[in-house]
Amino acid sequence: MELNEPQVETNPYEAMLSRFRVAAEKLNLDEGIYQILVTPDREITIAIPIQMDNGKLRVFKGYRVQHSFARGPAKGGIRYAPDVTLDEMRALAAWMTWKCAVVKLPFGGAKGGIICDPKQLSSNELERITRRYTASLIDILGPDRDVPAPDINTDERVMAWIMDTYSMHVRKTVTGVVTGKPLDLGGSVGRREATGRGCKIVCDRAISRFGMKREMTRVIVQGFGNVGSMAATLLHAAGYNIIGVSDVQGAIINNLGINITRLLAHSKEARTVVGFPDAEPIDGKELLEQPCDILLPAATENQITSHNADRIQAKIICEGANGPTTAQADDILFDKKIFIIPDILANAGGVTVSYFEWVQDRQGYFWNLKTVNERLEEIMVNSFDEVVAYADRHNVNMRIAAYMLAIDRVAFTIRERGIYA
Ligand code: NAD
Repeated sequence: MELNEPQVETNPYEAMLSRFRVAAEKLNLDEGIYQILVTPDREITIAIPIQMDNGKLRVFKGYRVQHSFARGPAKGGIRYAPDVTLDEMRALAAWMTWKCAVVKLPFGGAKGGIICDPKQLSSNELERITRRYTASLIDILGPDRDVPAPDINTDERVMAWIMDTYSMHVRKTVTGVVTGKPLDLGGSVGRREATGRGCKIVCDRAISRFGMKREMTRVIVQGFGNVGSMAATLLHAAGYNIIGVSDVQGAIINNLGINITRLLAHSKEARTVVGFPDAEPIDGKELLEQPCDILLPAATENQITSHNADRIQAKIICEGANGPTTAQADDILFDKKIFIIPDILANAGGVTVSYFEWVQDRQGYFWNLKTVNERLEEIMVNSFDEVVAYADRHNVNMRIAAYMLAIDRVAFTIRERGIYA
């Protein structure tokens, strides 16, 4: 199949591979290492039979893909959504490998998911699904093997269930088996806002590169969940002008600026940004195409494609979400000279503080918020600067630079470790 067929454009695994191929070619990666890196180490599909609240049995399908262990235990979120696919898990697992390598964490990449609609499930049903999923994967999880974290529709409560189920099976409390836990169960301060904070740090870096001032910088945020709402809150507090916000139910715009503190209160009450009194409603797709300085997609994959890339008017795209831009859209945006802070860099703040959480759990010694935020800032700033310098040196765009840096680091580790046979 050709890449310009629409279903291929929006297949996240193809999206990952097409960038991988470009980066691998530029790195002159040898064929053997190439094959290792495009082949996930382990892919598991499991059946999750659950007794529903009405007494009936239902079987859900779950996945865990562990892409690479070359640099350390696998690390990656778990999402619950009706449209989860194995290809999506493969892409997201590989992206985790590259992301951890971009910010130099001692982890490989993994991703997991369960095909379900959490909105249609009770809390008890979700708990049973989570515990059965964890029990089925018990032999491949663990602080030295694979460490899950929250992703779309999973949260601290789900992480607590995973931690508890794992701990019951191994007969001792193992907090380091997941990150993104509640604070009292070995979570880290600063984890909840870490991905959004990381986005804010790289936005600061990008605008200073272009001599822009925060107060003059108009931002549109797609998605108002963990990443989007935290990024919007921190950017707003830092002086940026947030002019548009959307969620799955709709979008709002106000070119004079939206008060994010008030929007948070509204969305807590209404469970959506829609209906916020100090802004106009707008179609969610149209919002992406409005004039702004920074577009911050923080929802889901494939939001900027060959169909709308030409109409994007932002100067900078900061990818809070994983895979929001297709490879074909990348080419169009590059021609339009839009500066992209790619997902594997822009949203790496989350896994960075997850790493801090894992370190703290293993030490049994917990840091304060100042320490967490300072260390996060240092890693995000250094990583951003490294990718920019690499892009300039090799005359490639930011995404390919981030991939090249990451692939080179993982490939180096594989060569150094050698192949055990
Ligand atoms: P979330 O479930 O907390 O929030 C998702 C938000 O996106 C919700 O507000 C939802 O209404 C909205 N949304 C969904 N479809 C939309 C659409 N078509 N248009 C507009 N809004 C839409 O999820 P999250 O944890 O914030 O994750 C968002 C993205 O960030 C995902 O791609 C995830 O993989 C990525 N990510 C998350 C983290 C993290 O720490 N949570 C870390 C790195 C990357």
